[in-house]
Amino acid sequence: MRVVMVGAECAPFAKVGGLGDFIQGLARALAATGVEVQVLLPYYRGLLPEPFVSRLEPLDVAVSIPLDGAALECTCWRLRAEGLDCVLIDPAGDWFRRPHVYGEPDDGLRFALFARAADALLRRPGWRPDIIHCHDWQSALLPALQWAVTDAGEPPVRVCLTLHNLAHQGLIEPAVLARLGVDVGTLLGPGPLDDPAAPGRANLLRGAIHCADFVNTVSPRYAWEVLHTGQGMGLQGVLQAHVDKFGGILNGIDDALWDPRTDPLIPVHYGPDSLSLKARNGEALRRRLGLRARAAPILAVVSRLDAQKGVELILGGIDSALALGCQVVLLGAAPDAAVAARFAAKREALADCPDAHLELAFDEGLAHLIYAGADMILVPSRYEPCGLTQLIAMRYGTVPLVRRVGGLADTVVDANHSDRPVGERNGYLFEAQTTEAVHAVLGRAAWLWRHHPDHFDRLRDNGMRADHGWRRPAARYLDLYRGLLGA
Ligand code: ADP
Repeated sequence: MRVVMVGAECAPFAKVGGLGDFIQGLARALAATGVEVQVLLPYYRGLLPEPFVSRLEPLDVAVSIPLDGAALECTCWRLRAEGLDCVLIDPAGDWFRRPHVYGEPDDGLRFALFARAADALLRRPGWRPDIIHCHDWQSALLPALQWAVTDAGEPPVRVCLTLHNLAHQGLIEPAVLARLGVDVGTLLGPGPLDDPAAPGRANLLRGAIHCADFVNTVSPRYAWEVLHTGQGMGLQGVLQAHVDKFGGILNGIDDALWDPRTDPLIPVHYGPDSLSLKARNGEALRRRLGLRARAAPILAVVSRLDAQKGVELILGGIDSALALGCQVVLLGAAPDAAVAARFAAKREALADCPDAHLELAFDEGLAHLIYAGADMILVPSRYEPCGLTQLIAMRYGTVPLVRRVGGLADTVVDANHSDRPVGERNGYLFEAQTTEAVHAVLGRAAWLWRHHPDHFDRLRDNGMRADHGWRRPAARYLDLYRGLLGA
């Protein structure tokens, strides 16, 4: 079976958040089962880490797409590294020669262009896959293109769409699609890209939900929430209409890459059988970030800093943790200037505090050290399609404190309030989006850390021994592909 993943991120080549981990992890896990998997990404010139640039091989395949009535040539580069087989699409011009993966004023056109080029490539002789698996809005034009045009004499290619975040849907002007030579008349007015909430505009994600053969979210609970709890962000109607091809598959993490027994980015290796060594990573973390040496639990936050992640609750949680005698490390990047300013002000206010460090950046190496060195991680999301930081933290014996929402609710079992066996409890949950609720959950965790460290270690141990790897979810995706192929 030949599967092609199409998306905007794939770690370690391009990563902004969990999408990068997801495509990397699923592609590697499927490849391990013998599936032929290829990942299609834009070639982000200037962002691809240097060691990989020298490994690019130009591909002898001509892809050209219409742009403003002329032909835009796209070079395709093959990158085989880290157990992944990628094709990087490189349209002539500066479309992907930007300082960031996202956040450019012409993102709509840039990613529509990427999806259009991916579609053109996958129609070339020898390139047609069995399954096209798209991710989020950046590749969401592709299912609509496949739906609209079937290659003569060929059955349609089966298309899956995974929804990692409904907040970003790719709302663009039809004129943008027309610039790319897309048959706007078939897709809009009326057509699958119509959005009743945004008349006159094209909604790429909505169109992909309509046109794909299967659609899933990255946790079962989020699939239910988007249908029934007002979290559908305007897409609940189209998802209801297609509920027979909609479900939720819980994400995994790549447990070969995220493994405290072998992780090259942490100073002291440890595992469930040598948990006491974890404390030495805590010491290294304190030294690196200038925290004083103290017998206190370290609370971590590793997150994109935006409204989804619960900005108020993160800021309130920092104050609560310090008031409860914890130490705090935060690693986060805020794409929005107003949010960035709030965290910069907090960092300023805590500049002389020996128990807190806020690092406002994206730093993969520091993230690993934090997972290894911290005792608890706070994830107070307003909504969370799956969430990977709680899974990674558990793998490193760092206890998650999370809001009972989406994939967080599917993966964290409360230490005190649960009907599940003690051997499955791995963290703490809270419901209300209030600083009081965060304070209470921090109080429960800090109390256990201080007064019953053996019980706290039990929570760490349960999290470390649980199987959150990709094997199980990859088997679910494989079943799904087989079902679509009638195999
Ligand atoms: P989302 O995809 O919504 O950002 P997830 O929890 O699914 O959230 O995935 C976040 C991923 O990004 C994790 O691998 C986490 O370690 C990583 N990450 C988030 N912020 C940073 C940062 N500032 N520096 C390094 N890694 C980060």
